[in-house]
Amino acid sequence: MQRKSAGKGKTLPAHSPGAFFSTHPSRADTFTESVIREMTRLALNHNAINLAQGFPDFPCPMELKAAACEAVKDDINQYAITWGAKDLREALAKRVKKFNGMDFNPETEITVTCGSTEAMMASMLAIIQPGDEVVVPEPFYENYGPDAQISGAAPRFVPLADDFSIDEEAWKAAFTKKTRAIIINTPNNPTGKVFTKKELSFIADLCIDHNTVAITDEIYEHIVYDGHKHISIGSLPGMEDRTITIGSFSKTYSVTGWRVGYALADTALTDRIRKIHDFLTVGAPAPLQRACVAALELPESYYKGLAVEYDRKRQILYKGLKKVGFACDLPEGAYYIFTDISSFGMSDTAFARHLVETAGVAAVPGSSFYHTGGETKLRFTFSKKDETLIEACRRLETIDGSRA
Ligand code: GLN
Repeated sequence: MQRKSAGKGKTLPAHSPGAFFSTHPSRADTFTESVIREMTRLALNHNAINLAQGFPDFPCPMELKAAACEAVKDDINQYAITWGAKDLREALAKRVKKFNGMDFNPETEITVTCGSTEAMMASMLAIIQPGDEVVVPEPFYENYGPDAQISGAAPRFVPLADDFSIDEEAWKAAFTKKTRAIIINTPNNPTGKVFTKKELSFIADLCIDHNTVAITDEIYEHIVYDGHKHISIGSLPGMEDRTITIGSFSKTYSVTGWRVGYALADTALTDRIRKIHDFLTVGAPAPLQRACVAALELPESYYKGLAVEYDRKRQILYKGLKKVGFACDLPEGAYYIFTDISSFGMSDTAFARHLVETAGVAAVPGSSFYHTGGETKLRFTFSKKDETLIEACRRLETIDGSRA
């Protein structure tokens, strides 16, 4: 809705909505709308291929669809327990023990949330007091900026090195007496970096020395390539009671619209997270929680197949981008290629708009992943059908400035 201005020379009546906005600022004024979601709307308006927002355009596994339908038919249609249905928490505890090597008591240490987005927000609200500092590696997934603003955190952005590895000196310098938490995202969005055990151990030691909590977003844990191995920082010695591990069904099982995620943490942290979660959302959708139990029953071959599928998609998009002059490397994990667009001579936002309008392909401007900077970057997702990616690459060959 458009806000009305009083017009030239007129003052707003004392009780007009305009007067309210000018005298009562809001935390919502401190950040912008999601650029990723905005690019999706722009893509729809221009009938463009959406390589902006990271969600699949292919179906989720049949087993999940069948389980969701069954759950609705079986009348699993009322609230689940606020912190998650018991069968789902029990299945998650088993899976996390097997895959991530961590033990969580389903009764006291697991909270099922509305996606990893809510898990992150609830975690930050649970441990941050206004003015506390939170270390955020940059570039970062764009939600973390508003999450910090909403929770009142003062973010301290620490640039990753040029190859996206951890710059140890910068990390050491970022910790102060006020540092309450750090945010880790591995495999990383947007860079594709998979943090190594050495890097995570270095960060873990800093957290222990400074009595700091690690909030780790591991939503892409099953999407890794070339022998890279996903490691949960919470599995490292001394991190058991100071880590909140966030995961989700969205990316692993191609159900981003279901909004089922989770936060894993020791009892004391979980007590706080559960209270925040309860009053934020009450709970994640009950029938879909039931269907997520079926997801966790898929055989091990499912996860291997997922990584193989995404590896092929990664190669298709990478070759297409290279062909038309984008500077990029193959990502180690997740499903994005973070490109350098310096050679095209346009800013990230201008180029993103140009691509949607003239080529019919949407990407995310790099500046969405930085508090300052990123104007020479553009992020493309390859979480799409092969044919979608092939068509997108064909369209990219038509852009002005293409070196094809
Ligand atoms: N994580 C996905 C991305 O980075 C989707 C973000 C979202 O809109 N929730 O594109």
